[in-house]
Amino acid sequence: MSTLFPKYDLHCHSTASDGSLPPEELLQRALDRRVEVLSLTDHDTLNGVKKIIEQKNELLKFIPGLELTANWNNRMLHIVGLGVDPADCNLNSYLRRLNELRQKRADKICERLIKAGISREALCAAVKIHAADAIIGRPHIAKALVDIGAVNSEQAAFKQYLGAGKTGDVKMDWPGFEEAIAVIKGAGGEAVLAHPTKYKMTFTKIRSVVTDFVSEGGTAIEASYTGISPNHQAELERLARKMDIMISAGSDFHSPSYGWTDIGKFPPVLDDSNHVLAKLLQA
Ligand code: AMP
Ligand code: MN
Ligand code: MN
Ligand code: MN
Repeated sequence: MSTLFPKYDLHCHSTASDGSLPPEELLQRALDRRVEVLSLTDHDTLNGVKKIIEQKNELLKFIPGLELTANWNNRMLHIVGLGVDPADCNLNSYLRRLNELRQKRADKICERLIKAGISREALCAAVKIHAADAIIGRPHIAKALVDIGAVNSEQAAFKQYLGAGKTGDVKMDWPGFEEAIAVIKGAGGEAVLAHPTKYKMTFTKIRSVVTDFVSEGGTAIEASYTGISPNHQAELERLARKMDIMISAGSDFHSPSYGWTDIGKFPPVLDDSNHVLAKLLQA
């Protein structure tokens, strides 16, 4: 079943978090790609969203969004919030708390890398350049490691230093995902479980996450995004129908230099009869 939706993208990143395009350039790229509905969903910040709103663009429908880092049973999950009020006080103070956690984590990661033999001076200088005034994340440290010649690529930086079980894998006490869902809903948004197949979980585990997610008030799961296999997409759409929750979709675009993604580019959803976009467009 298919509804006639405008071209959309409900998941992407700017320099406010770990993307490489400033919000204004991201918006222009979306327009160039004829995207008509766009949500900017930076990690744990609304700074880019606020910049785009200041521009008062009328060329596309802009949906304020974000991607919250949250904890579920000692795993780090991402919860996308769509259609949140960027001025919501609770959400903004929640984000200040997350930003402190992110800065603490970055400092700990760097200390561990230095202990492992990376030059303090070189690393700190390079991280400063890449994080600039963004909310810091591991990709900034990955880029710094490439710059100083410790690794050849960001992928390699994750593989050797920053990924699960590596020296720079610092566990943090992220807020629980029920808190993330509540703060998004409190700010008038839809809480969406981001990219369920990207957490290295079995489908049994994914079903268990989604069950908890729904019982905590989550309203949608992403069913299509860059890199998802057709089988997994079909499975996620089936799961959403069974659990009676909406689906969402987006590219998770970060950078034009990642040739495999672009704004507005992800597999078409198979059944969009219960799509969060319909609800967002009504609001
Ligand atoms: P953080 O939000 O600081 O935990 O960093 C997570 C981000 O790092 C994700 O949103 C991706 O943009 C990026 N990322 C995660 N894994 C990898 C990887 N293996 N290679 C490159 N980038 C990655
Ligand atoms: Mn990211
Ligand atoms: Mn994510
Ligand atoms: Mn993302």
